[in-house]
Amino acid sequence: MRDTVTTTGVSSGVRRVAVHGLSLALLLLALGLLRVSSQHWPLYPGTQTIPWWTLIPAYVATLRLTLDFEFRSEAFSVTLSQVPLAIGLFFVAPWLHLAARTVAGLVNCVLRRQPPVKAFYNVASGALEVAVASTIASLVLPAMTPGPRVWGTLLLAFAVTDVISSLTTALVLRLVGSGQDRRTFLSSLVSCLSASAVFGALGVIAVAALFTDLWTSVVIAATIAGLILAYRANRRLAAQQQQAVELHQFVQALGPIDLEDEASIPVLDRVRLLLLAEELELTLQRHGRHERHVVTGGPSGTVHQVNVGDASVARPQLMTGASLEDHMSAPLAGMHDLVGVLTVRQRLGTIRAFELRDLRLLETVAAELGGAIERGRLQRDLSRAATTDPLTQLPNLNESSRQLDALLRRHQVGLLIVAVAVDSFREVNDTLGHEVGDELLLEVTRRLCLAYPDALVGRIGGGRFLIAAASDSLGNDASMFGLDLRTKVEGGAQLGPVGTHIRLSVGCVRGPEHGDDAATLIRRAETAMYSARYSHGGPVVWEPAYEVEGQRRLAVVMALREALSSGAIGVAYQPKVGASDDSVTGVEALARWTHPALGAISPAEFIPLAEAAGLMGPLTSTVLRQSLTACKGWQRRAGRIGVAVNVSAHTLLDPLFVTEVAAILTSIDISPDLLTLELTEGIVVDDPELAVVRMSELRALGVKLSVDDFGTGYSSLTYLKGLPVDEVKIDKGFVDGIVHDAGDRAVVRAVVDIAHTLGLRVVAEGVEQEEQHALLAQLGVDEAQGYLHARPMAGLAMAQWLRRREQSPVL
Ligand code: C2E
Ligand code: CA
Ligand code: CA
Repeated sequence: MRDTVTTTGVSSGVRRVAVHGLSLALLLLALGLLRVSSQHWPLYPGTQTIPWWTLIPAYVATLRLTLDFEFRSEAFSVTLSQVPLAIGLFFVAPWLHLAARTVAGLVNCVLRRQPPVKAFYNVASGALEVAVASTIASLVLPAMTPGPRVWGTLLLAFAVTDVISSLTTALVLRLVGSGQDRRTFLSSLVSCLSASAVFGALGVIAVAALFTDLWTSVVIAATIAGLILAYRANRRLAAQQQQAVELHQFVQALGPIDLEDEASIPVLDRVRLLLLAEELELTLQRHGRHERHVVTGGPSGTVHQVNVGDASVARPQLMTGASLEDHMSAPLAGMHDLVGVLTVRQRLGTIRAFELRDLRLLETVAAELGGAIERGRLQRDLSRAATTDPLTQLPNLNESSRQLDALLRRHQVGLLIVAVAVDSFREVNDTLGHEVGDELLLEVTRRLCLAYPDALVGRIGGGRFLIAAASDSLGNDASMFGLDLRTKVEGGAQLGPVGTHIRLSVGCVRGPEHGDDAATLIRRAETAMYSARYSHGGPVVWEPAYEVEGQRRLAVVMALREALSSGAIGVAYQPKVGASDDSVTGVEALARWTHPALGAISPAEFIPLAEAAGLMGPLTSTVLRQSLTACKGWQRRAGRIGVAVNVSAHTLLDPLFVTEVAAILTSIDISPDLLTLELTEGIVVDDPELAVVRMSELRALGVKLSVDDFGTGYSSLTYLKGLPVDEVKIDKGFVDGIVHDAGDRAVVRAVVDIAHTLGLRVVAEGVEQEEQHALLAQLGVDEAQGYLHARPMAGLAMAQWLRRREQSPVL
């Protein structure tokens, strides 16, 4: 009497064959039993028969009219098929009864669109019920006279058929892989038997009525049908109310859903139960990718599967109407767009498939769910934005320090924390544009992540990165690690059409030795990094002394900014003289700064800081303006004395610098050939092509160019050939050694030779002794500059010095 297999999911061919085999066995058993029962028919001689086919509509009606029960929180549905079964036993021959049951079973399967495997089983099991009941009846009843004993036996026969059909159903469920546990089986059997007692009694009443008179039985049948319809209507209403309450509670409790979070699975499972489905599938689409979440309720709990892939592989599809019975889908609508599709499969518990009513519920739930998923995504995006650097997708400063704190707590061993600055980042950004700057950072990110896949890599500011990991994985020697990092990340890089050279400043700290919280460690690593940058040297490991230095540096930078805007930066001048005749050939302008509280600060301290703080532009402008103004003043009294101004790499590459120089020359109204710009040779190494372009532009203004500190850098003598310069300044280092060191002498001689061959003048700087001067003159150096001739002096002193020289040329 139970319409049994509610699982359509016979997953493999083997299982299907097994179920077919079982169905066939049941059918053969039924036919065998029927041979027994038909020998003893009719049960009572002289019984009136009814047309066999009248059982068909009776069976169809009772199979369609199911009654749902809940027993110990399990839902069961039973059918009223005992009524036609009881009637058939007495009034229709067994073979015809079996035929009627089979036809009705087939009709029922077609109406329910059951798959063949399920249909065959249900038909076979129905046939077996008829055969078992007929056999029991034919063996027992003929010995009794119709009365209470007969009716009792009949009820017993129904109970036996129910136990058999419950057992075969359990077997099929096991075969298709959705077996019940023993408790579920027993409670379903108990509820089935109790329903059987009630409906069996109805069958008995129907038979008794047919024995007495036809019209009584018609009235009884109508009453029973009316009661059943009322019961069903009541059940349906109660179920709808229950669902409405659940829906309301669900919507009330629904917060943002983040599907990347495990905590969202119970929510999906709740949706599945709300929609009374065995399986729920959520297909989402975003940024050209699709995501499929499947939640299935199994005997051992909820199963969640996710798969993510290319959107072109599986597009969410909305299937409506046609296959309403097996599954139904509804769109998940967000605020502006379709978020995805929600599908549920296999209605839970009862034999009923999804109906239009369920589809309406699905649509309501899908609309709520779409909004919740969209809110969840928004929340995740926001929290991502708060923790992730949008360009590199690395953890930002906040997130890096949070993760570093976590590392500190987790590791008993030491940590190595390294701050890295990309030295040329600002130059690239300013001269080649932000896009190339971004490319540079992405390239550094790529190299860092490749070199240290297991370390924490974060971006902590403009061109600054952080790397941290347990020292047992990175090595114990911080400065060795710094060197290793530089060799792995530094070097040439192609950024789109532009080729550049990546160079890093690296500062290291050890945790917890150098600090026990992330903030302190990062700050100290950065202090060490700035120190490395400042000294243009190798990796620096933090020491307590840097703390003081760092504070001083900060104070100096702030004061320098102030000094530049208030005009507190002055210029000192140091003359250059002809090596052979001591005539004044020009002066070098050197920035000077005396701070009211900090005292005189040497350019050796503030120039690198100005470079690091991006203040070289304004500093160069003020030196240019002051020195050219002074130069113009001397011109009136002392004749044409040229002035040389130092220009740093960053300033030279600045696209606005050439225009700035031209504007200053014009505003002061001075001949450009009185200005020499001193460039250190390092400039040209960083970005040779751009440097040469800028140099040519400056020379086109009529300005002279000089290579400062020549011989200290990487350059060879031959590289001079390609440079648009007028002068070479031999570094003080060679001048210091010239008297005692034959090597230094040889270098000076070679520089002079090649410079003269190229038509360049040669200046020696840092000349302190007569002996040095004499040797330099002998080697062919054109000009000398140094304390021997004069120390740098203020503008007024310079004017007086020049005047004195004019009055008595050779001092
Ligand atoms: P530099 O361009 O090589 O300047 C020469 C430095 O050597 C000056 O130091 C000068 O005072 C010093 N000097 C000159 N003759 C002698 C000598 O006989 N013996 C010794 N021991 N030193 C001598 P200063 O003024 O301290 O400048 C240091 C550096 O700061 C300069 O080196 C230059 O690179 C930079 N600098 C100074 N002013 C400016 C500026 O306005 N712009 C730029 N970009 N850099 C500047
Ligand atoms: Ca210089
Ligand atoms: Ca120099």
